[in-house]
Amino acid sequence: MNYQALYEALLQDTRNTAWPHAVAQHLAQVALYELTGKWSLYPDLRTKYEQLSTRMRELGHPIVLVEGFRTAKRQNELFNKVPKVTNAKALESFHQLGLAMDVVSESQGYNAPPSFWSLLGHEGEALGLTWGGKFPGLADNPHFELPTLHWSIYKKYLEVL
Ligand SMILES: [Zn+2]
Repeated sequence: MNYQALYEALLQDTRNTAWPHAVAQHLAQVALYELTGKWSLYPDLRTKYEQLSTRMRELGHPIVLVEGFRTAKRQNELFNKVPKVTNAKALESFHQLGLAMDVVSESQGYNAPPSFWSLLGHEGEALGLTWGGKFPGLADNPHFELPTLHWSIYKKYLEVL
């Protein structure tokens, strides 16, 4: 992906200012420095991940981050999986923006019991995150998003390229 072009396109647009500009800067940094793991998360989300991680450890249920930033290519690969694991195509997921993360139980991974997921969701929501466990139709327990603008606003910018 050409993040330089994206960043320049966003800077020229005056309709939506703060969020897209800050997100574009983050994406440029992800690309330039090849950031992975928690460093691929938008800074505000990274802070919340660290708070959630600390809280879950205190509660005796440590977590690990399994995915932060995700490329458009990987998103489409996931979209085409059978059985279905996501309703989001490329650029329709906040993972392409560094604004989403997937976390699981450190000891049990994705196979943690329902009580773990409800606790995780509760604690994530207490931090102001949107929890995928409440997504209608296709619940996504490990998934959290930082509430910002609708994904279609970012997609519009990304489709220019
Ligand atoms: Zn996710």
